[in-house]
Amino acid sequence: MHCGLCLPTCPTYDATKVERNSPRGRIALMRAIADGRLEATRAFADEMYFCLGCLACMTACPAGVNYAELFENARAEAEESGTLRTPARSALRAATLGWLFMDLRRLQLVALAIRWWQETGIQAAARRCGVLRLLPRRWRELEAMTPQIQPHFSADLIAPVTPAAGTRRYRVALLTGCAQDPMFSNVNRDTAEVLAQNGCEVLTPPEQNCCGSLHAHNGELLLAQELARRNIDQFPPADFDAIISNAGGCGSHLKHYARLLADDARYRARAELWDAKVKDVHEWLAFIGLQAPASRRLPPQTVTYHESCHLRHGQKIFAQPREVLRAIPNLKLVELAESDWCCGSAGIYNLLQPAMAGQLLERKLDRIAATRASTVATANPGCLAYLAAGMRRRGLELRLVHPMTLLAEAYRA
Ligand code: SF4
Repeated sequence: MHCGLCLPTCPTYDATKVERNSPRGRIALMRAIADGRLEATRAFADEMYFCLGCLACMTACPAGVNYAELFENARAEAEESGTLRTPARSALRAATLGWLFMDLRRLQLVALAIRWWQETGIQAAARRCGVLRLLPRRWRELEAMTPQIQPHFSADLIAPVTPAAGTRRYRVALLTGCAQDPMFSNVNRDTAEVLAQNGCEVLTPPEQNCCGSLHAHNGELLLAQELARRNIDQFPPADFDAIISNAGGCGSHLKHYARLLADDARYRARAELWDAKVKDVHEWLAFIGLQAPASRRLPPQTVTYHESCHLRHGQKIFAQPREVLRAIPNLKLVELAESDWCCGSAGIYNLLQPAMAGQLLERKLDRIAATRASTVATANPGCLAYLAAGMRRRGLELRLVHPMTLLAEAYRA
């Protein structure tokens, strides 16, 4: 259609006003390659990595263009072309996508090292005494963004089987995520508690796999397929009423295993059932009927809600998290202007494109500060970590939480 209705919703087009940086421009490039009119050049690969993959264009598009699928295949094409390949880049991708995130015990070892650096006070001392100023600027920026590692991993906080409080109505599996586990194991624990309070028996195996969204969004479709197969084997979808994710980005990818495994005759049928069973936790609670917390002892709080792009645009879930928040006694929800505009985190985009990501973060923090809320709720580990780093840098002293944490606190009260 080329209607251009996606253009005003695209953060990179909004920043540059260059057609090539818009969804319509990128689709034209993809089409030119598919039609054999253009080679997958370096400029094409750079453009695909300049896209945030926020999927706001999909919400705007009246023709139902599946940009998410185009984007994943375009990045895979960019990787296959080899135009971005350098020894350092290949080594970094092999170490992270090919090794670290393929076995989460390795990621936990890295997290333990960061936890040691933080808990011993070395990080605070290094920041205070100024020794970090000796590092190159980009390294200093990366150090400032180091996420806080939780004192315990999810397996230490959540039993493999959490019984339902009262009568068991459902049996669900809880996915604890890759980076979500060391950074936000408390959110996983809160999610398990909330599900139990709502009549769910929750299975949370201590050893789990990454969902593969990082791989799929960065052109590693074969690795993403391998992780999808492992997840389907570990959580046979026929055994559960639902397979629960509390991370917007992961959930959006987890719901498309059938597309990823469409050519795999052994897994295709199970992948279709898997897609039907994967639910975002807010979506699931709204579906089964949330048991509203009864406590009146909670202190009053004013909360604003930032929407994870892949929860809003990928999964089209926007009413349910607000319903969850409004069900909490003494909680006043104030709407955030541009709540569905990307915060710049976008998976590892903030590491690869710090200038563009930083602009979006500042814009988001301006909008958050304008609400005068004391708490910001958001349902994606990437957004939580990136907003936390931005708030620290700006000195914004707001509480930043996942909606499940607020709900779990209400039940405990
Ligand atoms: S992707 Fe959709 S909204 Fe964007 S130009 Fe094409 S038809 Fe229009």
